[in-house]
Amino acid sequence: MTVRVRFAPSPTGYLHVGAARTALYNYLFARANDGTFILRSDDTDTARSTDEFQEDILEHMQWLGLEWDEGVARGGEHGSYRQSDRYGRYREVAHDLIADGSAYYSFATPDQLESFKQAAREAGTSPAYDGSLEPLDADIARLISDGESAVVRFRVPRPGETRFTDIVRDEMVFDHKQVDDFIILRSDGTPTYHLASTVDDVDYGITHVIRGEDLLSSTPKHILLAEAMDADPATYAHLSLLMGPDGKKLSKRHGDTAMSAYREAGLLPEAINNYLALLGWSLGDDEEIASISEMIGKFDLNSVSKNPAVFDPQKLEWLNGVYIRDMDDEEFVGRTLASVEDDLGRSLSGGERAQFDAIAPLVKERTKLLTEVADQVRFLFSDIDEYDEKSWAKVMDKPEGPVALDAAASVLSVLEPWTTEAIEGALRGMLESTGLNARKGFQPVRVAISGSTVSPPLFECLEILGKVETLARIARARSEMK
Ligand code: GLU
Repeated sequence: MTVRVRFAPSPTGYLHVGAARTALYNYLFARANDGTFILRSDDTDTARSTDEFQEDILEHMQWLGLEWDEGVARGGEHGSYRQSDRYGRYREVAHDLIADGSAYYSFATPDQLESFKQAAREAGTSPAYDGSLEPLDADIARLISDGESAVVRFRVPRPGETRFTDIVRDEMVFDHKQVDDFIILRSDGTPTYHLASTVDDVDYGITHVIRGEDLLSSTPKHILLAEAMDADPATYAHLSLLMGPDGKKLSKRHGDTAMSAYREAGLLPEAINNYLALLGWSLGDDEEIASISEMIGKFDLNSVSKNPAVFDPQKLEWLNGVYIRDMDDEEFVGRTLASVEDDLGRSLSGGERAQFDAIAPLVKERTKLLTEVADQVRFLFSDIDEYDEKSWAKVMDKPEGPVALDAAASVLSVLEPWTTEAIEGALRGMLESTGLNARKGFQPVRVAISGSTVSPPLFECLEILGKVETLARIARARSEMK
């Protein structure tokens, strides 16, 4: 049997981090089993589905590297893989099910259904709707031709139960007392999620349905539908949902949930995949870092935990920092240059590019998010518009400020050669001659050249900035002191 799995987002929102985890697990499972990974669009909710959301989902799937083999925008044997293109097929199945008695036209109104449930609760019987309010079969054709509004419901076998073995949650049993005769076709002829999803799963030959736990209670319906279509139901795996740190379902209240926000914040797709994979699955031996190919090599759906997993953006940032430090310098430059140039509003000149190459290894060690890089290197490529207010107050407004800058200017102006070691030697000598400690002696120089007390390592920064510019900046800061 060839494994065929699908990720089936509804384009009613941006790609959510929780959905990305579902996509990733499907992807890992497909790749680990030489299977096929399909991307489907569950776009039957025409009021809420938009092209913009669809684009966002495709774009971020690609950005994460979760390439699909068949599906939306890629094609395959089954057409567009968009549910909105398949209404004819869903109606055909609904009518086949009516013809063989597995489904029926239902005329019961919402009020009637409510009274039915109320009465069942009072009588202590099952409140699942069982079709008992419907007209006699003999009257149905006439009601339809009279234009009475009817939905199509699936006839859930009663008494009965549906059992299945969920890969993550083991044995599951649903007593049909809990399952309504559910709607498969609405009165306007549009399919419900249950019908569209199951027909697609059957038609596309899906072998494993890996999806969120929120859909667990739909699964008996999908199994009953597949069986009524004379198909073998898929094997199911329901993943626990992601939680915020407070143990509640991850939502906007906890911060960003759209993948685009993480991309814009400077997270790497590799780090996100690594982090999301480990929410509910472990590499073993307390290992925390693995490339996508290592994860494919080890992925085992059977060892996925059913416990809720907490999404912790700080842990993700930490892991991102590990990935950034692990990049080689050239790659780091390649992945951050555009953001540095965007920040400046122009391209770097050849000389500036050499400066960026020189500072990159130092910045790389101190970066958790790619977007932090522009801030750290801006001082090299543009004049300091404004000194950071707090830094100025803390360092420059102190009696040691002018002392340090005067002494630094005097040792640096005669320094040859202009190398990191020579600069360090000269400035350490300056500490001795002035009696200032390293903090009091060096911080004013740092603020003078970078505008703030936080910068990459000082001696290297001075070397990269160059002698002329360093002395000019020290002189300018000195002139602005009281
Ligand atoms: N379209 C559904 C959703 O966005 C998922 C359907 C499924 O996986 O069965 O939640």
